[in-house]
Amino acid sequence: MPDIDIETLRRLRGRLGEEDPNRPNRGPGARGLEHMARNRRCQRLAAVTLAGASADAAARRLGIAPVSEDASPFAAARGHRFEENLFKDDCERIWRAYARAGLLPADFPHRDDLHEQWIDTEKGTDGRGEFSLPERLRQTEKLLLARARGDLSTPTLILKPRLTVHAGSQQFTIEPDGLIAAPGEPFYRVMEIKSYPDRQGYTSQSKTGSAARQAAVGVVALRQLLASNDLDERLAEATADLIFSNAGSDSPTLTRLPISGETDNIAATLTDAGATVTAVLDAVGAGTLDDPDVLEQLDTFLCSSCSSHCAMFEHCRASAIHQGHPVMLGDQASELLQGFTSMGELIALRDRQATTDDPDRQAVADLLASAHAAFAAAQDDRGYDATVAAGEDEDTGTDEAIPLYAADDADDDREQLEIIA
Ligand code: SF4
Repeated sequence: MPDIDIETLRRLRGRLGEEDPNRPNRGPGARGLEHMARNRRCQRLAAVTLAGASADAAARRLGIAPVSEDASPFAAARGHRFEENLFKDDCERIWRAYARAGLLPADFPHRDDLHEQWIDTEKGTDGRGEFSLPERLRQTEKLLLARARGDLSTPTLILKPRLTVHAGSQQFTIEPDGLIAAPGEPFYRVMEIKSYPDRQGYTSQSKTGSAARQAAVGVVALRQLLASNDLDERLAEATADLIFSNAGSDSPTLTRLPISGETDNIAATLTDAGATVTAVLDAVGAGTLDDPDVLEQLDTFLCSSCSSHCAMFEHCRASAIHQGHPVMLGDQASELLQGFTSMGELIALRDRQATTDDPDRQAVADLLASAHAAFAAAQDDRGYDATVAAGEDEDTGTDEAIPLYAADDADDDREQLEIIA
């Protein structure tokens, strides 16, 4: 398949993301890329992301005011303070967190040469530099390649590095919070810093998962850099060092998470980018993504996780409700009912008020009719109402579970269809 050139992607993007002079198009960043990877069946989100815009910008074009992903002023101030404290005194708190976790020697935080152990690509170690974005990218790559080629004298910690991640002919710049390689380690690993309080096993899974997936984008970028320089990409381990705040204080906690699954998911999504963009161009022709009608033309795949990662969720949900789309029945039913776009059609088939020549659709119709009949029988003949059928024994008052389709040897599909019946 020929690569789609960058000019074609710019044309496809149109002015998406550039409508607000105070908020120029910032591209998807690591967060946008990991969001795209969470729903690989959604062409609309992929088109917007791969064209180099954000779902926020597309949501605005669709008439939705996205809930800002930027932190509230209070959270932003707390995050700023947390980072300031982390980085002061030659990043002493970071070294301590690593030493506590046994990932740096215990005496490391007390070394005399701490100021040589880290570098901030944005401001330099003295905090006074003002390096341009291309300079930061060049410096980051130089240090990474030196380490990968065996130079163990590069700094232990690179703060605010810049990395490039390629998706087909498109390339994005991302900025992990840090890259760290303990003395003697052959290469760096990705560090993500969040000011969320670390509540151990009670830390919100969505927050931990989101930080891990952002780190996975960094791992993919590191591997791409190594591979393009004929170096072993396995040097970049699929792990994420997550730094959170200690609940109730500003001191950091450190968790090293394996993220192979997340890394594979991001890598596969980016590998598919060329084919995805080709399909988008086939669908929209000369249209551009700043046109709401063009956005509407693209396929979507609404699922329960969309609400947590996509700024266009409210629009997609409103459309599904308006169309009476079976996707509103939830992920399981929607998987089973793929190909159906209207609840009205489903109900007509179920009630034998409509027919179909398609054997697959007929099979679903039969399943629905049978599930509906079983549900009605459970209510009418056996005296169970829906609540009882869900778990409470009417006679004994116990919570013994009563399978809704026990008399009919119901299979999994029937259980999935209970909600429709
Ligand atoms: S909310 Fe809509 S546009 Fe966003 S990922 Fe889900 S289906 Fe796609």
